[in-house]
Amino acid sequence: GLHTDALQQQGITRAPFDINLVRRDFPILQEKVEGRQLVWLDNAATTQKPQSVIDRVSYFYAHENSNIHRAAHTLAARATDAYEGAREKVRAFLNAASVNEIVFVRGTTEAINLVAQSWGRQHIRKDDEIIISWLEHHANIVPWQQLCAEKGAKLKLIPVDDDGQIILEEYAKLLTPRTRLVSVTQVSNALGTITPAKKIAEMAHSVGAKVLIDGAQSVSHLRADVQDLDADWFVFSGHKVFGPTGIGVLYGKEALLNETQPWQGGGNMIKDVTFEHTEYHAAPGRFEAGTGNIADAVGLGAAIDYVNKIGIDNINWYEHQLLGYATNLLKQIPGLHLIGTAADKASVLSFVLDGFKTEQVGAALSRAGIAVRSGHHCAQPILRRFGQESTVRPSLAFYNNCADVDALVTTVSRLKSGKR
Ligand code: PLP
Repeated sequence: GLHTDALQQQGITRAPFDINLVRRDFPILQEKVEGRQLVWLDNAATTQKPQSVIDRVSYFYAHENSNIHRAAHTLAARATDAYEGAREKVRAFLNAASVNEIVFVRGTTEAINLVAQSWGRQHIRKDDEIIISWLEHHANIVPWQQLCAEKGAKLKLIPVDDDGQIILEEYAKLLTPRTRLVSVTQVSNALGTITPAKKIAEMAHSVGAKVLIDGAQSVSHLRADVQDLDADWFVFSGHKVFGPTGIGVLYGKEALLNETQPWQGGGNMIKDVTFEHTEYHAAPGRFEAGTGNIADAVGLGAAIDYVNKIGIDNINWYEHQLLGYATNLLKQIPGLHLIGTAADKASVLSFVLDGFKTEQVGAALSRAGIAVRSGHHCAQPILRRFGQESTVRPSLAFYNNCADVDALVTTVSRLKSGKR
């Protein structure tokens, strides 16, 4: 298991799961690229899928496929059970109080746009204030910019310190009676910073503002508990937590969802339609207009089962060791500068290398079969805060091991020292 590799040499002896068995659950990790075995270190962009997720989606199409809710026949019942079963898995995963608080959407981006276009357009007025942080992904910047431009509202920014952590004292100064919404990420996709999301929410609520937490980068690494966070909304993407693309989740407090008018209209979301008047379903139905991504919701349910089987706390513990191992080795490479050095971090190791463009580093890694992202990671403001337009960004998941990290470090070291 874990102890076959370098972590053991550091005296880490607790085995939370058998890493070799886990790796066998992910068929793509056997894939050859550039004549070498793939090393997948682009988990912040998207995660790989265990066989159980691939099989579950395939089983749905082979045995259950039907539209849901409407038709009264056996397959409609099977599809509905599978879809609603997945909703219950998501509810338990987030520790939401009710399945009525779980809305299936296309992903994090759609979830944030849904809140901006429904609640936002209904509640934000001229001179109101929305607060986000410097760490945000473009998906948690642009929808609020658009809303503020439409309404004449103001977008305010929580600054970060030189390690890439949110400065709570500065945040406190931004809060006013005009603050309507605070929308922040729980983990930064560009730097890996784990933000004090619970504290941020508590401070926002103290001035009567609502809180949206972007969980896109957090749910695969740490326990998400929407009741503990006291988030008004919490959003994430299935594909970043070992599930399919094209499916994601908007969690919202039930009363809040029910007092928000729907964004999109159509089938499924209505109770009764006449040409004069339409009555909407209660949440979550009112936000799920049209035929949704049924199969991939079911696949997301299987991904959550898989994560539960390994245990999110085990994942968190193991990745923390691996991140420490990788950080120590990367820091020893001369001319390598880590961007994002907060004490609380998950998964992400963003860096630049003196004398090399980030694309060059990314290309050298790719030739060695190692997949990382190099670029701006859809988070240009935070990179510019650190004087960068681009970084190299390896990002870890629980199926990565010390050998993956060693391959990364060796390739970067060789590139730097001019060896082939
Ligand atoms: N928010 C964060 C923090 C992210 O990392 C991402 C994806 O990179 C998103 C939002 C957008 O997610 P999606 O593209 O799945 O909608």
